Amino acid sequence: MVLTDDQKALQETARRFARERLLPDYQKREKLGVLDRELIAEMGQLGLLGVDLPETLGGLGVDGVTTGIIAEELAYGDFNISLVPVGISLNAAILIRHAQPELTSEWVPRMTRGEAVVAICLTEPRGGSDASNLQLRARREGDQYVINGEKTSITFADRADAYLIFARTGLPDEGARGVTAFFIPGNTPGISRTRFDDVGSAIAGRGSVFFDDVRIPLSHRLGDEGKGFTQVMQGFDYSRALIGLQCCGIAQASLDEAWAYAKEREAFGRPIGQFQGVSFPLSEGESHIAAIRQLCYHTLALRDAGLPHASEAAMCKWMGPKYAFDAIHQCLLTFGHYGWSKDLPHQQRMRDVSGLEIGDGTAGVMKLIIARGRIGRAAVQY
Ligand SMILES: Cc1cc2nc3c(=O)[nH]c(=O)nc-3n(C[C@H](O)[C@H](O)[C@H](O)COP(=O)(O)OP(=O)(O)OC[C@H]3O[C@@H](n4cnc5c(N)ncnc54)[C@H](O)[C@@H]3O)c2cc1C
Repeated sequence: MVLTDDQKALQETARRFARERLLPDYQKREKLGVLDRELIAEMGQLGLLGVDLPETLGGLGVDGVTTGIIAEELAYGDFNISLVPVGISLNAAILIRHAQPELTSEWVPRMTRGEAVVAICLTEPRGGSDASNLQLRARREGDQYVINGEKTSITFADRADAYLIFARTGLPDEGARGVTAFFIPGNTPGISRTRFDDVGSAIAGRGSVFFDDVRIPLSHRLGDEGKGFTQVMQGFDYSRALIGLQCCGIAQASLDEAWAYAKEREAFGRPIGQFQGVSFPLSEGESHIAAIRQLCYHTLALRDAGLPHASEAAMCKWMGPKYAFDAIHQCLLTFGHYGWSKDLPHQQRMRDVSGLEIGDGTAGVMKLIIARGRIGRAAVQY
């Protein structure tokens, strides 16, 4: 992909920040286990958050391809920190399209300045794949909605400043048609949160959010009643391509380190990179990541051109984490016994990237979307 001068300049800013500020403490942040809000504010000051949002709201007004470049570069330094800008691109777009202007102008600039983290809450305890079959209830009472229920497996559940939730306002058997979106500040009375002990991405604070008679004004409803499900699904086609690029970024960090090691580490009197048993698996990882990177940018280019890209986005989303995991695993092996130590980052990268084999939709659901794109409803099981 040939970059414009503006894209190169932004890429350089993100690359320098990722390699100088993020990469050195990637593992230290896991041990601390909390999202470093000062680092997020620093990204805001550098203009790296919500770059695709309008300048009037603190963004740079750039396209999806450029947003993908930033996601990839940041993930090279710290995959978990790169979840923040991708989340902003998804959540702020929903606000801009569907929220009252006052809500948008209050919250989106806070997000782009790195002062507010917003969690998107779709999944519930009874399941996430069948996403429209949700039970959390929003009942209208005069000029308010009263929210009751639990959202679970929510990234940044433990410390989000606001929650973008999807609730049932219609009848239980109405499926996607009875789902409405709401924006709820985190300090609203009746909200409580728990945090899970996860395999990876410790700083993302995944957990449950409980809503117990939470009252919000009508002005916090996003769009019309019953339209919430379509709103979030539109956004996922975009974020899935960005996630694919996050996966490319994290895998490339391990590949670069493994290639450098293969040049220097010697066995049987020569650098191990001279053994095809070492170099070919790395070449395969390099090839898979290069191919997925191109697919992700192609998907974002389709989106920027206003063309359909749901199937392509689903391909990015299932292949990205899977092949990144495989490539990083190969890098871990290249380091021999050192790779098995927690002193090196490959084990953490494998754990972190594998979360997105599930988060934002599993590979099974992505393949269903691809099949539906080819043969329509004939691909759906009843
Ligand atoms: C790291 C991480 C971050 C997350 N962040 C968020 C977040 O911020 N907000 C949010 O709302 N949710 C989030 N989630 C939840 C995530 O979206 C769900 O876990 C996911 O959609 C799957 O739902 P489930 O876990 O309930 O699995 P289930 O729906 O119970 O599925 C179980 C298994 O069955 C398979 N399966 C189910 N139906 C089908 C089918 N039709 N065809 C093929 N296979 C199928 C699934 O692929 C899976 O392997 C996150 C999850 C993780 C792991």
